[in-house]
Amino acid sequence: MNQPAELMDIDGLGGTTPVSLANACYACTSCYKNSATAQFKGYDLELFEELLEASNELKVGSLPAEMMGPATRMIVDKGEKLGYFMEPMPKFIDFTKCDGCGLCILGCTKGAKWDANDFIKEINETENNTEILSNITVTRVIHDNNRVNGVEGIDSKGETKHYHSKIVVIAAGALNTPKILIDSDVTNEVCDGLFTDLFITVGGYLKDVNLNTEIPMGVKSEFGPYFISPHFSNQLIPIIEDKGFNPKAGDIMGMMVKIADEANGKIYSNGSIEKELTSRDINLLKEGYDKSVELLKAVGVDPSSISSTPIRGAHPGGTAAIGKVVDKNLETRIKGLFIADASVIPQAPGRPPILTIVALAKRLSKNIVEEIYQKV
Ligand SMILES: Cc1cc2nc3c(=O)[nH]c(=O)nc-3n(C[C@H](O)[C@H](O)[C@H](O)COP(=O)(O)OP(=O)(O)OC[C@H]3O[C@@H](n4cnc5c(N)ncnc54)[C@H](O)[C@@H]3O)c2cc1C
Repeated sequence: MNQPAELMDIDGLGGTTPVSLANACYACTSCYKNSATAQFKGYDLELFEELLEASNELKVGSLPAEMMGPATRMIVDKGEKLGYFMEPMPKFIDFTKCDGCGLCILGCTKGAKWDANDFIKEINETENNTEILSNITVTRVIHDNNRVNGVEGIDSKGETKHYHSKIVVIAAGALNTPKILIDSDVTNEVCDGLFTDLFITVGGYLKDVNLNTEIPMGVKSEFGPYFISPHFSNQLIPIIEDKGFNPKAGDIMGMMVKIADEANGKIYSNGSIEKELTSRDINLLKEGYDKSVELLKAVGVDPSSISSTPIRGAHPGGTAAIGKVVDKNLETRIKGLFIADASVIPQAPGRPPILTIVALAKRLSKNIVEEIYQKV
């Protein structure tokens, strides 16, 4: 576990949502005190209503029993025998359209998995005067006397563009939003508080188990600041080969261990990132690793093949946290400048954050509409 961690981030329309595994974990509010919703309560921001609205729109539901593949079922059976509470993962998948191919990460070709492009389709299908510009990279926010005036950006031809508005919402993701804030003199030269929900996939050789063709992460078992869940990772193949096995993708059985890591990372004005693993992070990963090994052995994985991927992070957040960079209305110190992405989440939820981010955006849009109506 001493390799540098790898950070996963995708740019493009819909953000990172097209590659998501459709996990919709807001329900963790009840079982984990650091979950995003619980964290916001400390700032007098209750998101429950918006989470319900978001769940409804994204068609969140648990993985149905009949869609659970045999490898996942084996994990459930043996996990329960070991005393773990294995629960179906809530998913934003329309299961009437899903054929269970397991390729969620490649972008759903069946139209079953929700992603943020669904909102864009909705806008395009509704008659209104909204224009979506997907070829502009925002470089800075224009503001004057602590009041926002718009944004400056560069188009695909390298031309500088200006857009004027009394309301600006930045949602460039926790790795990009800080750069815009720094370059616009909204915050200083460093944004700290970065977390990433660090994870590893622990796996080994089990001939023809075919976990790779099942809906990924179909169930989970919660252990406070971390959870474990069945997960196939291609990265395991060469590592297991090095141990003298000759696995094809269908011979890999794996468990993801995902932790709420400490929000101790920094992003500098040149875009560089610094984040150290703490001993707490490492201990949580080790705990999850040990449980996964126990479970993998119980389902029949060859113990000498069991290996771990490098540490990765796929949920960057915390870099413009509520209470530090934004207030409970998600507004920065610049009037009219708001943030609605994972940057505002103050601590690592250790759980998939999309539903929470959608709920935050819904709350913000209600606030903005209310403010506009008050002025009319
Ligand atoms: C492989 C993978 C699987 C995942 N699975 C899940 C899952 O199952 N469930 C879950 O809840 N989460 C999942 N996540 C995490 C989740 O996708 C992210 O946490 C979430 O999408 C972050 O949302 P965001 O709005 O903060 O940023 P993003 O989704 O990163 O969106 C930022 C957007 O801003 C754009 N942008 C960036 N800079 C600029 C700029 N300067 N100007 C203009 N536009 C800009 C980007 O192109 C992008 O469209 C997964 C992540 C990965 C990598």
